[in-house]
Parts: sequence; C-alpha cells; structure tokens
Amino acid sequence: MTFSGASTTIVRTLIWEWREERVMEHIWAPWRVGYVRVEKPAGCILCDKPREKDDAGNYILYRGQKNFIIMNAYPYNPGHLMVCPYRHVPSPEELDTEELLEHFSIVNRALEALRETFEPAGFNLGMNVGKVAGAGIDDHVHTHIVPRWQGDTNFMPVVSGTKVISEALADTYRQLKDNF
Ligand SMILES: [Zn+2]
Repeated sequence: MTFSGASTTIVRTLIWEWREERVMEHIWAPWRVGYVRVEKPAGCILCDKPREKDDAGNYILYRGQKNFIIMNAYPYNPGHLMVCPYRHVPSPEELDTEELLEHFSIVNRALEALRETFEPAGFNLGMNVGKVAGAGIDDHVHTHIVPRWQGDTNFMPVVSGTKVISEALADTYRQLKDNF
C-alpha cells in the first residue's frame, strides 16, 4: 500500500508537530534530576530572589523597572534564562501594558546578549501557563529562553555533580553579565 501525495504530506506534518512538541524532552540534561528531586521551598522564588540583595548569588542578570532576568538553576541548556515580572501573577493577561511591553523588550535584550555571548543557532522561547501545561512555578508567570545549538549538549559537561553544575552556572553568569 502506498500513501497518496496528500496523505504523505499530512503524515509528515503530524510527525513534524510531534517532534516540535517533544523537542525539549530530547535535550540530555541530567542535572535537572536535582530539580525534580528537590523539595520545593515554601513561598515563591521569583518573588523572593529579587528582594534579596545578592544578584550574582541568585543569578539575576538584569533588572528592569517591572521585570527582571534570572538564570534557570536547572537549565535545559547553558544560558537558559527566565524573564519575570516582579509582580506575582499567574498569567500574562494579568500584566498591564507597561509590564508587557517591558517584558518583551527585555526578552529581546536577553536574546541579543545570548547571541553575542554564545552564538546559538536558535532558541526555544515560551511560557508554560498552568501546571497542566508544564509550569514548574505555576503561580508566577515567566518566559523561558533556551538557546539551542546543533547537537546541543556538547557545550556543557555531562555530569551529575551539583558542584560542577554550580560552577558552570557561575561561569555562564559571568560571561553573560558582560554583555548586558
Ligand atoms: Zn511570585
């Protein structure tokens, strides 16, 4: 049995959509096990971290008036950033126009800094709104920015020791910070 041209196209489209959906799961990021296993602290880290006066220790790369950029401590890839409003709201439609405009201009600033620092070939960019959609912190909206390279994980040592990972994070922080 053979597929007609049209059916083949539909099948190809379905396969492509499936791949898009799965693409994040294919990144080999064993250090994320620490995140999955860790007991989640009470309160909201996206509220607490910017209130502390330790931006380098908290991997906060940039502060705007309404939003800030923090590195994901359990990255899918090196340079995995999150743009977050200071305000604790679960979904982007609760942000006002000023917050939204700044949010996305800061997303662009992050893309520029990442391009300049690490020359990624592409990005995954997006929000998970609601736990069912995969949000780890589901009550404080944030935009993920994950730089992508051909072959990806060649860029970070594939190890599971948290010390090595925190050193890699600190190193990524220093390199990126210079380009903000
Ligand atoms: Zn919060």
